[in-house]
Amino acid sequence: MTGTVVKSTGSWYLVRSHANGLLYKCRLRGKFKNKGLKVSNPIAVGDEVTLENEGGEQQAVITDITPRRNYIIRKSTHKAHHAHIVASNLDQAFLVVTLVSPRTSFGFIDRFLVTAEAYQIPATLIFNKIDLYDKESLGYLKQVMQMYQGIGYPCYPCSAHTGQGISEVQALLKEKITLFSGHSGVGKSTLVNVLVPDLEIKTSEISAFSDKGVHTTTFAEMFKVEEDTYLIDTPGIKELGVVEMKREEIAHYFPEMRERLNQCKFNNCLHLNEPGCAVQADVKKGKIALPRYESYLSLLQDEDTHR
Ligand code: GDP
Ligand code: ZN
Repeated sequence: MTGTVVKSTGSWYLVRSHANGLLYKCRLRGKFKNKGLKVSNPIAVGDEVTLENEGGEQQAVITDITPRRNYIIRKSTHKAHHAHIVASNLDQAFLVVTLVSPRTSFGFIDRFLVTAEAYQIPATLIFNKIDLYDKESLGYLKQVMQMYQGIGYPCYPCSAHTGQGISEVQALLKEKITLFSGHSGVGKSTLVNVLVPDLEIKTSEISAFSDKGVHTTTFAEMFKVEEDTYLIDTPGIKELGVVEMKREEIAHYFPEMRERLNQCKFNNCLHLNEPGCAVQADVKKGKIALPRYESYLSLLQDEDTHR
């Protein structure tokens, strides 16, 4: 029997069987080594696994894992060995943001987008709480959406409270596995509750399974929205870790810079103050948005301090 891992506590895994859709409480059999990957969890939410029934009712052992299509790793900022796989086999990643109460910074949005680019996972921005926006902030929203859409990132405004824009977001989820991310306060939990019809039942099933005393809130969990449509929530995960990258690589994860790189005079151009830099020229002309360039500079500086 095969299934998909929908939740993990670190010692137990909850797996949805492909055969009957039921949830099985599982442990691991044998060693699951992530070749070349220094992570603390051998099995992650989203993994496709093989199960063997263990006799007990809806209990099984995981005996094998199908190679992952992709995965997102979260690295603790201070302890390098505390990296873990957040989720795997994703079709797309959504970042829930708000421009008012609270205001998500461009730096935060851009770090998420860079991470998604690095993992080659299509990213979409969901602007929640539009019911709170006055005329002025609606104008600002339009500008911000235009900026990101211009680069190629789909943007959707919505309100988890009034239901505005929700059907559009629902349509995006169809027949896909979607990761939801966002810093606290943007209404991600509210939105997930609106999108997953029987979330409360699912949640109680899942919490009954969770080991007592084990802190599970920093692990992702997968919910079924409808047939072939799944959503992965990342409660307690404020921000996906930015992948380690070389300084020269960072611009490759900004699509609007990536397309100009071969026009720079020097092929190792960092787009700081080199002569003949196509990126700087287009920032000056306003063809590359200044907030994006500032995010680039700040990521470059982060990489410098990690050296
Ligand atoms: P999370 O930390 O991102 O999971 O945010 P929550 O879902 O807990 O929501 C934070 C607060 O924002 C709560 O008080 C929600 O009721 C509120 N909230 C969520 N969505 C909306 C929305 O669309 N409009 C408004 N006005 N408030 C919202
Ligand atoms: Zn340059």
